[in-house]
Amino acid sequence: MTPAQDPRLVRELADVVGADHVLVDDDVTAGYRTDWTGRFTSPSSVVARPGETAEVAAVVDLCRASGVALVAQGGNTGLVGGGIPTQGEVVLSLRRLAGAHEVDGASGQVVVGAGTTIGAVHALAAEAGWAYGVDLASRDSATVGGTIATNAGGLRVLRYGDTRAQVMGVETVLGDGHTVTALTGLYRNNTGYHLPSLLCGSEGTLGVVTAARLRLVPRLRHRVTALLAFDTIDAALAAAALLRRAVVGLEAVELFLQAGLELVCSAGSLPRPFPDPHVAYLLVETAGQIEDRGELAAALESVPGIADAAVATDPARGRALWRYRETHTEAIGTVGTPHKLDLALPLPQLAPFLDRLPSLLAELAAGAQAWVFGHVADGNLHVNVTGVAPDDESIDDAVFRLVAELGGSVSAEHGIGTAKRRWVGLSRTEAELDPFRAIKRALDPAGILNPHALLPPATP
Ligand SMILES: Cc1cc2nc3c(=O)[nH]c(=O)nc-3n(C[C@H](O)[C@H](O)[C@H](O)COP(=O)(O)OP(=O)(O)OC[C@H]3O[C@@H](n4cnc5c(N)ncnc54)[C@H](O)[C@@H]3O)c2cc1C
Repeated sequence: MTPAQDPRLVRELADVVGADHVLVDDDVTAGYRTDWTGRFTSPSSVVARPGETAEVAAVVDLCRASGVALVAQGGNTGLVGGGIPTQGEVVLSLRRLAGAHEVDGASGQVVVGAGTTIGAVHALAAEAGWAYGVDLASRDSATVGGTIATNAGGLRVLRYGDTRAQVMGVETVLGDGHTVTALTGLYRNNTGYHLPSLLCGSEGTLGVVTAARLRLVPRLRHRVTALLAFDTIDAALAAAALLRRAVVGLEAVELFLQAGLELVCSAGSLPRPFPDPHVAYLLVETAGQIEDRGELAAALESVPGIADAAVATDPARGRALWRYRETHTEAIGTVGTPHKLDLALPLPQLAPFLDRLPSLLAELAAGAQAWVFGHVADGNLHVNVTGVAPDDESIDDAVFRLVAELGGSVSAEHGIGTAKRRWVGLSRTEAELDPFRAIKRALDPAGILNPHALLPPATP
């Protein structure tokens, strides 16, 4: 029996959230105990599903009083094991805290519950004549709370920034049990520390997010989507750099390679986009308020090395082109349980990294296969490695060390979770980690919020 399964705690949790919302049976809790990739799992746990902020605060209080840790969970689409109760923690599912509290069409802001999915935020924004700046392939399951906790990036960071750039206010239950409601809609409020920023990327270690005020962005009606083929990776990377400089309306520049394209076509029964195979592909999208194919067309004329291209100006064809990129994660899951290495590199180091990766993998594991794609215009690559046992971390270690050598980061957008905790030191110095630990102690003195994620223990 894990500490979370103590019958007294289970009874007390039921008193707070209602017996129907405390899940104990293994077959019912299974979906909360295993992550999206299947790599991170826990044998058993208890799930509490509060329906309002006061219940969240009461659950945090109960866990603190009982000395039992808890792991907040939203859509469970996280890819670094951060939302999984790996050491028998209580799972605090925020999914019932879904829906709009306020839609302010005049200011371009929404206040939503933490369990609202990103897809639902897009729908709310569209109804009010706006759009939401963060978009990712997991939009129909990933929640506002989870995207704040991981500071999710996604497909439009290039234009709108990551989640941190969208969050104007939060309501949160801190680890010490206090609820802080800071949901004002001031675009300017220069009065000291910024709690929403602190919670972005905190991975459920400082507070449980229960609601957020999000800024919206103009809804751009005209999109041009292009899939470009290249016969060398260098040509694709040079094109990404050129487009970034030349196209004001650029929203997305996504890279993938021939092996990934083959896989998504066979796993998703998609037609091949071009008659001949090529080495690398860029999925590029521009958006504007007036129809303007000219900007991208003119830029593409000056891009050397385009071996083939497909351009879409209607939404259905645009969505069809996006499928070649967006179904990568799903398709890779059909090959095996991947090691998902989400990396950031300085733009000039993308080519040297991609050059050195194959020989590095071949040296370590003959059967390893790398599937590489990513938000390349902002230096974010997703290296997914299959053919390696889920608990064999030698590949992760070697790839992260190469990334550090090239001046990159071991996480661009997925966070650290439990998966990358041992490598945080490659991207953060002890001098940086010490204040992180001090903040953790101040906001979660009992250390009950997601204690096994993100922060590594201090070196003695
Ligand atoms: C197909 C696919 C595509 C993806 N694409 C992208 C992408 O392009 N960009 C990107 O950044 N990520 C991407 N992801 C990863 C994932 O969707 C994001 O990390 C997302 O932000 C997780 O949200 P969630 O609600 O599912 O959080 P969960 O997985 O439930 O939790 C993630 C972390 O947040 C914490 N947490 C969750 N809710 C709260 C809360 N209310 N308060 C405090 N802490 C909380 C958890 O403890 C955990 O540490 C993708 C995932 C999939 C499966």
